[in-house]
Amino acid sequence: MLDCVIIGTGAAGVSAALTLKALNKNFIWLGNKDLSIKIRSAEKIKNFAGLPSVSGEEMKSAFLKQIKAEGIEITEGKVNGVYPADGGYSVMCGQQLYEGKTVILATGVEAVKPVKGEVEFLGRGVSYCAVCDGFLYKGKEIAVAIDSDEEESEVRLLAGYARTVHLFRLKKCSEIIGENIVNEEGVITEIKGGMRAGAVVCGGREIAVDGVFMLKQSVGADKLVHGLKAEGGHVVVDRACATNLAGIFAAGDITGRPYQYAKAVGEGNVAAYSVNAYLGGVGRA
Ligand SMILES: Cc1cc2nc3c(=O)[nH]c(=O)nc-3n(C[C@H](O)[C@H](O)[C@H](O)COP(=O)(O)OP(=O)(O)OC[C@H]3O[C@@H](n4cnc5c(N)ncnc54)[C@H](O)[C@@H]3O)c2cc1C
Repeated sequence: MLDCVIIGTGAAGVSAALTLKALNKNFIWLGNKDLSIKIRSAEKIKNFAGLPSVSGEEMKSAFLKQIKAEGIEITEGKVNGVYPADGGYSVMCGQQLYEGKTVILATGVEAVKPVKGEVEFLGRGVSYCAVCDGFLYKGKEIAVAIDSDEEESEVRLLAGYARTVHLFRLKKCSEIIGENIVNEEGVITEIKGGMRAGAVVCGGREIAVDGVFMLKQSVGADKLVHGLKAEGGHVVVDRACATNLAGIFAAGDITGRPYQYAKAVGEGNVAAYSVNAYLGGVGRA
């Protein structure tokens, strides 16, 4: 079993990974090899100590250079669940399972709030994971909502299974062209159904579907980890970045405002030290 599984490759995840490496811990880091859309988005960052005026792209390049120099690897994938296991936690990432004595959640803040019915039908026709659940919809009619162009490969994966993909954009992103992909206008405002999700509502229209995939950059961590205490869309942590669940720590935007690189980096560092202390090393937990 690994010492830690870090989930998320934004500023908080980068800092947690660098610190765990310095502490000589055995960990896996799950997320995106290109780090995070948010890291890259800033035009000019003027409030990061020591780097007076860098762009988000420059910050990303500096992070990538540093982790490469430290020999740290990112394992590409989206986590769809964290479950208690003997002596720690099992982390489901696509169809892979990783086991860690501890977990650091650094998945950022959910930029697009759940639509009506999304949480209610989660696991009953609503999914956040194309890789895990796509095969269930072979030859079926599905709705897919995306919040960035980065989800294109998942949309194409789903289009390979489904009869029709009704594609909705939750934010400004490009159309995806495909034989069975219908680029719909407007956004989903509600998911309706009985025992399972059966339709999406968009601009007064109702489209009957067998399933709905909400492919977002970040979903609320309380939806990934059963029993995790969250308030107002943020995971509740103490000063050691410890959550209400033993061995699970959280860092960065996920824990609340201010949404800033400096806070994310600081909390990533604290969370890593807390992991070390939890495992019996120095630091505080
Ligand atoms: C346009 C813009 C400008 C900004 N300008 C500034 C600025 O000038 N100064 C400043 O201090 N801050 C700025 N920010 C805020 C800053 O970008 C964030 O505070 C910072 O990126 C937070 O880092 P994070 O690691 O907490 O989360 P994020 O950067 O959001 O990273 C979260 C990571 O987790 C991954 N992830 C999410 N869910 C999963 C999952 N289930 N499995 C695996 N991985 C997952 C995501 O893909 C992403 O890699 C700006 C943000 C934006 C959008």
